[in-house]
This record gives sequence, C-alpha cells and structure tokens, in this order.
Amino acid sequence: MSVAGIRNSAKVRELATELRDRCALADVHLVAGEAEEIVVKHVQAIAAQLGLAERTVLTRYMGEAAMDSLVTVVASSNAVHVEAASTAAPVVIGAADVGAVVAALGMSLKLAAQELEHEVQFADALGVTTDAADAIVGLGAALRGAPDRDKIAIGGPSLVYARKVLWLTIDHLRDRTWACSCRDRHEVGKSCSLQKMLARDLGLIGGWPSGPSEPAAGERGPSA
Ligand SMILES: [Zn+2]
Repeated sequence: MSVAGIRNSAKVRELATELRDRCALADVHLVAGEAEEIVVKHVQAIAAQLGLAERTVLTRYMGEAAMDSLVTVVASSNAVHVEAASTAAPVVIGAADVGAVVAALGMSLKLAAQELEHEVQFADALGVTTDAADAIVGLGAALRGAPDRDKIAIGGPSLVYARKVLWLTIDHLRDRTWACSCRDRHEVGKSCSLQKMLARDLGLIGGWPSGPSEPAAGERGPSA
C-alpha cells in the first residue's frame, strides 16, 4: 500500500478529523493537512514496528486506546513546542559540537526505538523518535548551510526538539522508565556514563537536565 494510498483513505480522514477536534479541545490547533500527516506517520511507524501492512494497522490497530494516546502525545508535545519555540534564543556552537549533539540524538532515538516494543512506553517513545528525527534533520540543515564551521546557529523548533529529546531521554534513563544500554551499574540517584554524556551534550545546546544528580559545574558545557 503506497503512502498516497492510505493518506487518501476515508479512514485516515476520519481519524484526522477526530485528532483535530480532540486536540482543539486541548487548545492545540493543527494546521491544514497536519492531522492527516500525523495519523499517516503514526500508522507507518506501527506498521514498520510490527511488520504489518499499513492498511492492516489502519483498520485493526487504530482503535480508541490508540487514538487516546495519540491525542495525548500530540497535544502535550505541541504545547511544549509552541511555548518553548517562541522563547528559545538560538545557540551558536562549532561543527564538532553539533556532531556531538547529533550523535546524542541518534543514541536517544535508538533507546526510544527499543521502547516501542513495550506497550506502556509506546506513545511516549514514538513521540521521542519523531522529535529526534526532526531535530537531526534541522541540525543537519544548519550544519550544511553554515558558512563558518566554528559558528553554527541552532534555533527554533530544531533547538527545542533537540533539548526536549535529550532531556526526556536522560529523565527516562534516570528513573529507569527506559532501559539503558551502557555497561555501568545503574543505581538510583546516580548518573551512569551514558546519562552524563547526554547531559553534557544537552549542555552544549544550552539545556539542562532536571533532578538531583546533575553533574558538577566543571562538567557543564557552555552556559545557556
Ligand atoms: Zn547507563
């Protein structure tokens, strides 16, 4: 089934209308075509994950519970996005640091993808994978278009998504909602080496993890 095929189906239009209406109730207003896009991407992600045809996912897996979690993710991520994107000042960093942030986003994407298998984590993990992908695209574009390799400006939604993804990943590793892939022994209240690395990379783009186990000031990247 081609992408155009499911996009133009009555079922996608029906789900998109439901998504748009329910998000509007949460005061999140999706622009024309956006709800359809979100539904199609969501179906494609589930289809890829489960190894099923998109049409099958669309007809059998997009029930009430699936729509509930989709509405929750879209409404909350959009609220964060709208609020933060309007206030986030761009950061200017070197190409090597952009590379470190892209690598950290890739690691977050990998960890989130593993969590897609767990039903309770699914909606949240899918949100992180989508945001990480958007951030990587944005950072790649900033890197490609920068005339000066030492001064690459990262701002707008790319910056917001990158910070959000790293922040959530560190948070989920810290409270053990997500499984960590590093070899350290994991103890509550202590950052493992992967968490520290992600926190340092988050610092590079002016973000800061929450919680009690922040690295010492000396481990921080450039200040926000
Ligand atoms: Zn770890």
